[in-house]
Amino acid sequence: MRRAELLEEIVKRRLFYWPSAEIYGGVAGFYDYGPLGLAMRRNIVEKWRRTFVLPYQDVIVEVETPIVMPEPVFKASGHLDHFTDFVVACTKCGRRYRADHLVEEELAKRGVKISTEGMSAEELQRLINEHKIVCPACGGPLGGVERFNLLFKTTIGPYSENAGYLRPETAQGIFVAFPRLAEYVGRRHPFGVAQIGRVARNEISPRGGLIRLREFTQMEIELFFDPQNPKCPYFAEVENLEVPIVPEELVAKGQADPLVLTAREVVERGYANEWMAFFMALAAKFLKELGVPLERQKFLGKLPHERAHYSAKSYDQMVLTERFGWVEVSGHAYRTDYDLSGHGKLSGHEMTLERRLPAPKEVEVVRLYPNPGAVRERYGDKMGEVIKAMKENESVILEAFRSGRQVVVVGPYAVTRDMVFIKSERRKTDLEKFIPHVVEPSFGLDRIFYVLLESAVVEEEGRVYLRLPPDVAPVNVCILPIVKRQDYVEIGRRLVRRLAAAGFSVVYDDEGTIGSRYASCDEIGTPLAVTIDEKTPVDGTVTIRDRDTKRQVRVGIDEVAAFVDMVKRGASFSEAAEALKAAPV
Ligand code: AMP
Repeated sequence: MRRAELLEEIVKRRLFYWPSAEIYGGVAGFYDYGPLGLAMRRNIVEKWRRTFVLPYQDVIVEVETPIVMPEPVFKASGHLDHFTDFVVACTKCGRRYRADHLVEEELAKRGVKISTEGMSAEELQRLINEHKIVCPACGGPLGGVERFNLLFKTTIGPYSENAGYLRPETAQGIFVAFPRLAEYVGRRHPFGVAQIGRVARNEISPRGGLIRLREFTQMEIELFFDPQNPKCPYFAEVENLEVPIVPEELVAKGQADPLVLTAREVVERGYANEWMAFFMALAAKFLKELGVPLERQKFLGKLPHERAHYSAKSYDQMVLTERFGWVEVSGHAYRTDYDLSGHGKLSGHEMTLERRLPAPKEVEVVRLYPNPGAVRERYGDKMGEVIKAMKENESVILEAFRSGRQVVVVGPYAVTRDMVFIKSERRKTDLEKFIPHVVEPSFGLDRIFYVLLESAVVEEEGRVYLRLPPDVAPVNVCILPIVKRQDYVEIGRRLVRRLAAAGFSVVYDDEGTIGSRYASCDEIGTPLAVTIDEKTPVDGTVTIRDRDTKRQVRVGIDEVAAFVDMVKRGASFSEAAEALKAAPV
């Protein structure tokens, strides 16, 4: 646990993050991020966008939707009925535990190693009874295993009957906006929608720091495609990337070690379609670039009873950590048309796209025509507006009358059955409607943040520092006058402003010994440190020091921004030094 312990000290000392509402004792599952933590999280988000969204922006667009959503959303999505964990309470002290975790932990203490993932209430109850598991806090007997819904509930406005819920995933905001989003992209397909945002899950008894939170940030993409054509136009770009995968068939046999296949092989062996394999290959690359080698990654296939209610196939991207063992950092789910169908049925809105048929065919279509007499009678000179609203909401009105309703409200107007004629017609068309299928990669920012920090800890020749990739390090460069002399300070301050104006995150420090200041920069993973010394006022040069090797070179002060930029973009210290003709020190 050496790395994890060293990290804990750095996190505490430099205030990367800490338990929220600490002055009141804190609440499990909520954390604050300090300035360094926040800067690093922003950088991870930007890297995620650079990996998953920006190169594919002709197909993947971004949105932001609310955290609070009304009840029907989660009725249709299945979360009200299925988004549950099992809870068990102590009948003596009243403490409540997540039943599957409790059983696993208590049996592990007795040397019995089992996985309780996907177990039913009855199975958990049987294990509790069989092994005589009691409350670990007071030794009291446990009650029955029950379901507990993880949605946070609230009310919207001063109406207790107006229930709202905090979203447990960003995805639903995308699904309910599907008709508009489809319009935005010109109804072409495939298309994807990405969203980065906060979500909340009322976890039963969260432990494990940032790994199990009650409020956290997700980075998700819902990729909509025609199930008859699951081809990914970018697949060739990733087909040779390696994906360590434990497919379902091996999971079922109890195998934990992954096969290392190329993305192409994953598709050829039928383990995933092109879109899923595409995102999995990118996810493996993303984590690798963040400092997690492929040997510490695997995509674990989920058996049917282990999957979320909406998923027909799932892989969890797992990363091996020192403190928490294997941790899921992203989930890759084939959600089929589950969500769009659910929202389509409950809302009455059409959640479809069209595919072109090889040859036209005759189809029966149900059409709505306004009954002008009845509309005029009710709405008089508003008739034109009412008819326009009826045309725009044709499918909603048809669906409502089909399901037996007598009145449909569209905007400010109530449409009654006598105001419309419904006719069935035969028509030739080469277009066919379909509900798109969805592949979803879903990343937990907070877990990735932790994994990245733990992977970056280096202890070397008595110094401890974070070897963070330069594009995600919270600070790009430290500016350190070798001593606090007026002219050095002025040059240093000017350089800070120049670098800040160029968009870099900079720390300035002129207190204490230069050795302790280097250590302080290294500790938070700053890749470069610039020193202003006796030569600077004379010839306009400074030294730049490499965090990892402690090597130093001299460059003109005007070259510093270019140096920092090259390193941030992935050049090594030597490459940047060579490109800028830096002199050895
Ligand atoms: P899921 O929708 O459960 O597959 O979650 C998607 C991702 O969100 C996971 O891969 C995790 O990275 C993250 N995640 C899920 N639950 C939590 C939690 N309680 N705390 C922090 N991150 C979480």
